[in-house]
Amino acid sequence: MFKSVAFLSYNAIPNLKEGWHENKKKGTKMLVLPNSHNRKFMNEYDGDKGNLAVRNEVHFLWKKFHNTTNNVDQIVLYVGTFGHKVAIRLSKKFPANKVTYVTCTCGLIEVKKLIKRFGHGESTLIVSECHGIKTMPHLCRNFLKTGEIKVIKKSKNKK
Ligand SMILES: [Zn+2]
Repeated sequence: MFKSVAFLSYNAIPNLKEGWHENKKKGTKMLVLPNSHNRKFMNEYDGDKGNLAVRNEVHFLWKKFHNTTNNVDQIVLYVGTFGHKVAIRLSKKFPANKVTYVTCTCGLIEVKKLIKRFGHGESTLIVSECHGIKTMPHLCRNFLKTGEIKVIKKSKNKK
């Protein structure tokens, strides 16, 4: 179980406010850092403009993260097709067991390779839909409730 986790995504993390959230009963605390421009997806720009926007946003989020805390048990990072290079590079300063990556299937092979190349092959990798738009908030909520970082599939039997 983790006590404190930071969630970073250069896309939106819908229905969760930016900043700290706490579950005192469970003893869990999370820092939510979504896209800071209220944009749903960063790659709404095409080509170089889009890549630059994503890169800037990733750097900005990490700055925010470092200004807020350096003491979390785990960092959960969305690393999609556009922003994975810079995001993975920045995560290198943390040990592999402190980082969880979330990515969609579009760039999965490339993302996996890069994570390995940066020595984080041991890190947990969670595969999500594009932009992590459902999985990231899902992981946030589940973590705050349970202290675990995982996707909990809804059982079809229980209604
Ligand atoms: Zn995708």
